Amino acid sequence: MRALVLEKVKQLGIHEIELNEVMGPEDVTIKVHTVGICGSDVHYYDHGGIGNFLVKEPMVLGHEASGTVVSVGKNVRDLKPGDRVCMEPGIPDRNSNEFRTGRYNIDPKVRFWATPPIHGCLRPTVVHPADFTFKLPDNVSFGEGALVEPLAVGVYAVERAAVKLGSTVLVIGAGTIGLVTALAAAAAGAGKVIVADISQKRLDLCGSRYPSLVLLNVAAKPLKEALLGFGAIDFVFEASGAPPSLQSAMEAVAPGGCIVQIGCPLKESSFSVSLAQSKEVRLEFIFRYAHVYPKVVALLASGKLNAKPLITREYTFAEGAKAFEEVSKSDEMIKAQILMPQ
Ligand SMILES: [Zn+2]
Repeated sequence: MRALVLEKVKQLGIHEIELNEVMGPEDVTIKVHTVGICGSDVHYYDHGGIGNFLVKEPMVLGHEASGTVVSVGKNVRDLKPGDRVCMEPGIPDRNSNEFRTGRYNIDPKVRFWATPPIHGCLRPTVVHPADFTFKLPDNVSFGEGALVEPLAVGVYAVERAAVKLGSTVLVIGAGTIGLVTALAAAAAGAGKVIVADISQKRLDLCGSRYPSLVLLNVAAKPLKEALLGFGAIDFVFEASGAPPSLQSAMEAVAPGGCIVQIGCPLKESSFSVSLAQSKEVRLEFIFRYAHVYPKVVALLASGKLNAKPLITREYTFAEGAKAFEEVSKSDEMIKAQILMPQ
């Protein structure tokens, strides 16, 4: 099949690739419709790897996808050809302890689309387990369906924090993941959601699409100082990955508050244990998400999450290489999506 393949750093194109996928009795085959470009896809494109995951062989990019079921395995009951669906991209080892205990996202053997050596979904069809494939209601578009993946990160983080009605939430980092976390916190009933970043451009972009967010530029002063007048900060979500940010979060959070680390620091990050102790901070770490896809789909269908403004640009499949080039350079994209030929 013809797929968008990363050969090596900055070498991306539509190539013929043999994938030899076999559909088992519990699988479905899906015609891919929309694929979002993620920060991680762009990182592989720009650097050829993330941490220990290195692109050694040509790899198909993309993991944020929606599409239409074209055929189903003989044991599949809940899906049928023609169903519009979104796909959860990380398939755990069903015999692992993590899977059995419900924490399948931290299974070290998880096979996640477009994480070497696993191919992604920027291709005409994919074979996928039916239980990691979720039906989209009629009022949820393919574009929104492809946003379920990044939204799942925010919803999972907010769920882990147990954000309370009327609470004050601070999100550090106004990138796509920071923004989806802010939206999830608002949907969970937070009274005030503050988004902090050092880039005014990124803050303006978030504010232009979601005017109810409180935007805080922290380029000129320390976070704690910039937050004077906002009262107790009950929950902090670290979504920038900047190494000093966890310590800033520790200073900003109210005694008895909660911090969730979402961003992946590319260098080691540290914080004051004594400060954390004196405030009895609850500190949570999350890795991707688990068990949240149906919830995200329900939030989209009910209108409690309005994801459409996240889509800043659409490209055709033929423009795939150009899309990556532009997203890699631009600081004015929240989410670019690639539309596959139907
Ligand atoms: Zn993603």
